[in-house]
Amino acid sequence: MGKHTRQVFVGGVAIGGGAPVSIQSMTNTDTANAAATAAQINALAAAGCDIARVSVYNGDCAKALRAIKAQTSIPLVADIHFDHRLAIEAMENGADKLRINPGNIGGEAKVRQVADCAKAHHAPIRIGVNGGSLEKELLERCGGPTPEAMVESARRHIAMLERAGFYDIVLSLKASSVRESVKAYQLMAQLCDYPLHIGITEAGAEQAGLIKSAVGLGVLLHAGIGDTLRVSLTGEPVQEVVAAGQILQALGLRKQGVEIISCPTCGRTGVELLPVVQRVRAALQGEKGYLQVAVMGCEVNGPGEARGADIGVAFGREGSGVLFKQGVQQKKLPAEQAVEELIAQAKAMLAQR
Ligand code: SF4
Repeated sequence: MGKHTRQVFVGGVAIGGGAPVSIQSMTNTDTANAAATAAQINALAAAGCDIARVSVYNGDCAKALRAIKAQTSIPLVADIHFDHRLAIEAMENGADKLRINPGNIGGEAKVRQVADCAKAHHAPIRIGVNGGSLEKELLERCGGPTPEAMVESARRHIAMLERAGFYDIVLSLKASSVRESVKAYQLMAQLCDYPLHIGITEAGAEQAGLIKSAVGLGVLLHAGIGDTLRVSLTGEPVQEVVAAGQILQALGLRKQGVEIISCPTCGRTGVELLPVVQRVRAALQGEKGYLQVAVMGCEVNGPGEARGADIGVAFGREGSGVLFKQGVQQKKLPAEQAVEELIAQAKAMLAQR
């Protein structure tokens, strides 16, 4: 059970207040190119993304939001820095939420204008504190981008919105250090009940970035902290969504798609297991229903895991495979046939979910 937070709505997606942890990502196309950006958002949505963010760095981007909205179906967040007019224009063109730091847009009067416009459009605002862009004075006082400095920065931004009578707030406190990010979120979670958007920023690329994100987000989510998340990876954003889904699935927070349970293989393994796992994964990719599929290398741990999954196969040394379905042993087949049968039966089960 997660920590109780207020609930806000981004379009039709709830964040906080016990809603499922939603997955976000950010496009890396030029937002002004509406067709390319919409295509990427649709690819993110197909991979399981709930909310997409685009950077709005000038008026062309703000105008493009209207066309992007018309070609996509998941809620859209406009990421804006410094310019309150862009924030207002983005919402007028359909942005469902803003990511903006109120302290950076030129004073209370402008904050009030943005807050009033956000209220009128039912758009929440995420205050996105980033360790790399903290106020100079806070950096000096706290001796760097410490968790305490990030929390203090967030509190200042929150106070500005609250003075404008605005409370549909989501917070993020991202740093590239896992430990500092985790500490900042833990501190913040004790201080307020605004929903938290969690992430490890600038986590890096590929495996190193995935591991950093999984460790940081895993620690937080396991402690019940985090209402929505983004995995930040250098590269193709669809990978962020896949990784976010897998992190939530590993913690039992999201049951969607196919979860493959496969063993690391050892000297007992009777078949080349990796190609089988890859084949099963490719054949069942994109399925929305939830199904656990076990692909196991031998008859030691294989039958136990295969029985525990919705469907599974345990290979034997002599090149055979025993199928298990919903805890019950089925037939023993030559390995190749066993794989075909496993895929066919898994598809049939998914079609019923
Ligand atoms: S399930 Fe069998 S083959 Fe796979 S790692 Fe365990 S003992 Fe080895």
